[in-house]
Amino acid sequence: MDTQNNSANTQTETEDFAHLLRSNKLKVTQPRLRVLEIVSTKTAAISQPELEKILGNEIDRVTLYRILASFEEKGILHKIFDLHGTATYAICSTKCSAHHHHDQHVHFICSVCNSIYCLDEISLPQINLPSGFSLYSIAINAVGLCKNCQSTH
Ligand SMILES: [Zn+2]
Ligand SMILES: [Zn+2]
Ligand SMILES: [Zn+2]
Repeated sequence: MDTQNNSANTQTETEDFAHLLRSNKLKVTQPRLRVLEIVSTKTAAISQPELEKILGNEIDRVTLYRILASFEEKGILHKIFDLHGTATYAICSTKCSAHHHHDQHVHFICSVCNSIYCLDEISLPQINLPSGFSLYSIAINAVGLCKNCQSTH
């Protein structure tokens, strides 16, 4: 690993990610740390093709696919589908755990650049289901223009 000139900040972050992996009973590996590092630096959700582009041949496709699947299962990342039906991933809130996602927030999808943002601050409506139905999750997408696209249109 050629990260001798890492800043102190990056070092702490790596420690946090390593801790996150260990607390989810995942082995701390370089590819897993790299994926967490990239996803956490993005303000919008990121798709597997985008990740592949950033990673180049650092991590092969199959490994990346497995990492994303395991992160989703453990409650580290949650999956959101964009307007084209492509799966994108965003970091979960700390409340998420294995098999129990609590990312019940609105997702904003930009119709121009297709970026997806997690809007944690918006509270979701109470869903009153007919009797006999039970609720597992709510997915609400708000579609419009993001901040970046707003300024260029
Ligand atoms: Zn989650
Ligand atoms: Zn946009
Ligand atoms: Zn989200």
